[in-house]
Amino acid sequence: MGGGKKKGETLRLFAALDIPEKVRERIAEAVSRNAGLLPQARWVRKENLHLTLKFIGEYPEEKLGGLEEIMEAKALNGEPFTVALKGCGGFPSPGKARVIWLGMGKGEKEAASLAAELDSGLSKVGVGRETRPFRGHLTLARLRNPLDCSPCLASLEEDLAGLEDMDFMISEITLYRSFLRPGGPHYVPLRRFGLGRECGARD
Ligand code: ATP
Ligand code: MG
Repeated sequence: MGGGKKKGETLRLFAALDIPEKVRERIAEAVSRNAGLLPQARWVRKENLHLTLKFIGEYPEEKLGGLEEIMEAKALNGEPFTVALKGCGGFPSPGKARVIWLGMGKGEKEAASLAAELDSGLSKVGVGRETRPFRGHLTLARLRNPLDCSPCLASLEEDLAGLEDMDFMISEITLYRSFLRPGGPHYVPLRRFGLGRECGARD
């Protein structure tokens, strides 16, 4: 797991929903067929594809227990729900995108409510509040300089037309530690919290 923690260390953390391997494979295939349309983009590696609920940022390691308690309580209060991924878009806009994303055809309301619960709960243990409204999305790529991504988005969306039918259950929230590296970020799951059920032993 996290491994090698030193006293006084801060960890870069976020809470996310995991995507089943089969769905990530389907997405990665479409990405590999379309990435050439946007060579400037940094495409997210298959193993890193996820739905972010709450970006926590740098957090003191010694306060991790308190943060986990809140995540556990919020997860226990929730319940499993179905997610379907659907549609592609660009933030802040398709014509000047810095982020290319996949949207949620199902489950966005539930994800938004979990995100809001985490946002308010974690503010009590020193995590900054989110100022922007929650938009459930899976980041596919990032661009250093904003670019018109419309042709790539259209092609990706056509390629991923069947993705909506590959819906899946979300039954836990994962607390990730993120290591930013020159070759791309590395995410390490620290703990999983079951929705509506006791679990969450460290894996
Ligand atoms: P990189 O920063 O190298 O592009 P990354 O964004 O994937 O990699 P992190 O910055 O550690 O890695 O972010 C982890 C997750 O939190 C990602 O899903 C990212 O989109 C999200 N995230 C990062 N910063 C913020 C932020 N300020 N507000 C909301 N979400 C964020
Ligand atoms: Mg980042």
